[in-house]
Amino acid sequence: MFKKILIANRGEIAMRILVACREMGIKTVAVYSEADENALHVKYADEDICIGPPRSADSYLNVPAIISAAEITGADAIHPGYGFLSESAYFAEVCEACHVRFIGPDPSVIKLMGDKSRARRAMKKAGLPMLPGSDGPVENEDKAIKLARDIGYPVIIKAVAGGGGRGMRVVRNPDDLTHAIRTAQREAEAAFGVGDVYIEKYLESPKHIEFQILGDHHGNVVHLGERECSVQRRHQKLIEESPSPVLSDKLRKKMGAAVVDAARAVQYTNAGTFEFLMDAENRFYFMEVNTRLQVEHPVTEFVTGVDIVKEQIRIAAGERLSFKQSDVVFTGHSIECRINAEDPVSFRPSPGLIRTFQLSTGPGVRVDTAAHADCTIPPYYDSLIAKVIVYGRDRAEAIARMKRTLEMSVIEGIQTTIPLHLRILADPEFVAGKMTTHFMERLVESKPASGKLAAAG
Ligand code: ADP
Repeated sequence: MFKKILIANRGEIAMRILVACREMGIKTVAVYSEADENALHVKYADEDICIGPPRSADSYLNVPAIISAAEITGADAIHPGYGFLSESAYFAEVCEACHVRFIGPDPSVIKLMGDKSRARRAMKKAGLPMLPGSDGPVENEDKAIKLARDIGYPVIIKAVAGGGGRGMRVVRNPDDLTHAIRTAQREAEAAFGVGDVYIEKYLESPKHIEFQILGDHHGNVVHLGERECSVQRRHQKLIEESPSPVLSDKLRKKMGAAVVDAARAVQYTNAGTFEFLMDAENRFYFMEVNTRLQVEHPVTEFVTGVDIVKEQIRIAAGERLSFKQSDVVFTGHSIECRINAEDPVSFRPSPGLIRTFQLSTGPGVRVDTAAHADCTIPPYYDSLIAKVIVYGRDRAEAIARMKRTLEMSVIEGIQTTIPLHLRILADPEFVAGKMTTHFMERLVESKPASGKLAAAG
């Protein structure tokens, strides 16, 4: 087993990884930017090293600085968390070249899945159901016009290197296709350095359902069930839950088995998430694979009892998975709300000094955060400041528990998305479990009852 792990991340996820390491008796190294000098992950780590100025490009994405930090401290593995370098095949390769274990899949698998068009081809070959679309990047406009006509409008244009909900364009009218492709290519080039785009059928009102898997280096792969992440704004998830309110045991088994087979086909190791869209007839369509730990992993941990971060570390150290598929039992229901430092109406970031930070706890409540009273949320990074995760015997109890927890929580000094979450939790469509990826558009359009946001503020 590793003796010392460097955590190449910040915020709540750095704390989450640190917690797993401490419980496993593994020493930790925190790296931090100049903006994070007083951050909690720095305070609790056994060792810490500053890796550069606040800007992510100069610090949390600074590969030479992070590798040097690992070498100076003698860390034998690096956990990248999510975001930043977590899906960089290059970073994973550099780690291996420097004899520091990268806690994640093999660089070749990261590379394959990082090209969404190649990933689509590989997963189609491995038997996963696909939406009709291009087999590779769009080659020229004539072919694209023909393909879109064959698929049928609406279609969606996606960047092969896309991520974080960026680089997507829906086209409803053939006249708009070429312009949309050119714009998407330009945007993709600017955002990801790769201008290639591909075309896929656009589903009008799907649910976002994803499966968590774990694979070791001995050929064992298991799935830990699904998460439903249909509550999204601009393709960014806001609330996630497990199980999905609409998936039957039978369908879970069938989809889980298909995902495990597909993961085996590409010799997938460590943690991964297979994302799907599901239509109104409960038909699944593969979307992409995230080759890292997900923000929403705790809901799976609650319903399965598996500590995904510890499993990631054990797998990277070469250990066998300690359980089989038949050992995975799903109980109860878990929901996560992402608490962002944002204006809950305009969604504008709201960094700054937190004066009061009291997140309520109680039975079945977990809070993953690195924020606290008197800490300053820097403006340089994403706005997630805490995750509130609850567990209930069933979905109704989980919703009631989340509502209660958020109502009894107080964050002052900055604005947060808590009032928005309370609106979602009270929405009849959400309560009925019928939400699709368009849920938030409707909710945002229907203005909150006057005074409600201020009262919950
Ligand atoms: P990213 O990697 O940027 O998160 P994804 O491919 O995972 O991109 O898609 C993110 C979201 O975009 C999905 O959850 C869904 O809401 C929407 N989306 C993507 N592809 C389609 C599609 N073919 N039809 C309808 N919605 C889609």
